[in-house]
Amino acid sequence: MTRVHVVGAGLAGLACALKLSRAGARVTVYEAAGHAGGRCRSFFDETLGCTIDNGSHMMLGANEATRRYLADAGSEDAVTEIAPAAFPFVDIPSGEKWRVAPGPGPIPFWLLNRDRRVAGTGPADYFEIFRLARAGSGETVSDRVDRAGRLYERFWQPLSRAVLNTDASEGSARLLWSMVRETFLRGEKACRPFFFGNGLSAALVDPVLKTLADNGAEIRFRSRLRTVLVEDGRASELAFGADSVPVRDDDYVVLAVPPDVCGSLLPECRAPTRSSPILNAHYLLEEPVELPWGMPFLGLTGAEAQWLFTRGNSVSVTVSAADRLIDRPGDDLAELLWAEIAPVLGHPQRPVPPCRIIKERRATIAQTPAEIARRPATRTAIRNLMLAGDWTDTGLPATIEGSIGSGALAARSVLEERARARAA
Ligand SMILES: Cc1cc2nc3c(=O)[nH]c(=O)nc-3n(C[C@H](O)[C@H](O)[C@H](O)COP(=O)(O)OP(=O)(O)OC[C@H]3O[C@@H](n4cnc5c(N)ncnc54)[C@H](O)[C@@H]3O)c2cc1C
Repeated sequence: MTRVHVVGAGLAGLACALKLSRAGARVTVYEAAGHAGGRCRSFFDETLGCTIDNGSHMMLGANEATRRYLADAGSEDAVTEIAPAAFPFVDIPSGEKWRVAPGPGPIPFWLLNRDRRVAGTGPADYFEIFRLARAGSGETVSDRVDRAGRLYERFWQPLSRAVLNTDASEGSARLLWSMVRETFLRGEKACRPFFFGNGLSAALVDPVLKTLADNGAEIRFRSRLRTVLVEDGRASELAFGADSVPVRDDDYVVLAVPPDVCGSLLPECRAPTRSSPILNAHYLLEEPVELPWGMPFLGLTGAEAQWLFTRGNSVSVTVSAADRLIDRPGDDLAELLWAEIAPVLGHPQRPVPPCRIIKERRATIAQTPAEIARRPATRTAIRNLMLAGDWTDTGLPATIEGSIGSGALAARSVLEERARARAA
């Protein structure tokens, strides 16, 4: 009976295993770490004495693969939907506040309402969206929009950093367009932000591990794949240090590992090589704080801090595309970011509250045109081996939706390949 060996228990591997186990396949998941979730997980932090996420994450209403995944794992209730959609912002230097609040339907009539668009912009400024739609594969966001315009620092740059984890001067215009098309141009519902109020693992990891166990899938933690043996164009053995696992004739392998690991396991496989960091500062306050408009998150412009997220007594700052800051000592970062956000929260600049800095140096691939061109397809030259991960060629940015979508695609490819092999 077919067994599928899924290597990597990040969201891509979990999504793949979930789909396959629901389809009745026998599945074994191998994970190098002692826990699942990869770059998207919660853990207990000794410094703050509470559970935090490795980094604040947000998903959007348009993320259909993620919504199906949550439904399959029975964890839809573990996410909070903000309706109607609105993205509040504060410009730190000027103190100006605004909300981007898309309206219903695909025609953006909402841009005619000044309370729904970026402060200091007019509806005509947004025609740039259609310039993005015509971007060539080698063009960056700033090649397609006006760098001197008001929208650049207040819309395109925050959007490029949040969605592509890449500065607008380098980020792929085509990839950002894929997100704009699926969200802003589909109307308010597709733009709704979804939050993980009880943490990432409570929604995206723990319920999936339980469902996998219920479906009879096996999960082996602390199993780091070292070598894939390939014979006659097929993967025939997986070596995990001292142990090795035979890949039988009708077995399949899905590699759902990061791109650098895939590159070392399969040197002939093309993969992006440049990554981009994300920095998170989690502060523990004495009591909960209220953000403008009573929202659980806030976009910031004109500062190093880019987003604020609140959960109970904690407030977290996100800095994406954080190359400029990532090598600075944690204490400096805690002070620098607190000095920027304290006035917004109505807190004094000193003392700096207890803080945990988390540096994810390889948070995602750098989503530049050159790196995007190196994304490989799901199927490989090895007949029984597929790839999954946010860095593979999903046509989507490297996000929760991209990773879950890639896992679902790999599962579908395995099932199709198995059906084809059986028919033959
Ligand atoms: C700080 C931060 C903030 C983010 N914010 C957002 C956001 O707001 N919205 C959003 O949509 N996305 C966000 N993302 C991106 C999102 O987290 C990723 O796209 C997603 O988690 C990637 O999942 P993956 O399964 O593709 O990869 P990974 O999570 O990297 O999973 C790969 C797994 O393979 C394992 N592995 C590695 N080598 C081996 C080996 N040799 N053998 C066995 N196992 C191995 C790893 O331990 C890991 O568990 C953010 C990412 C970070 C880091």
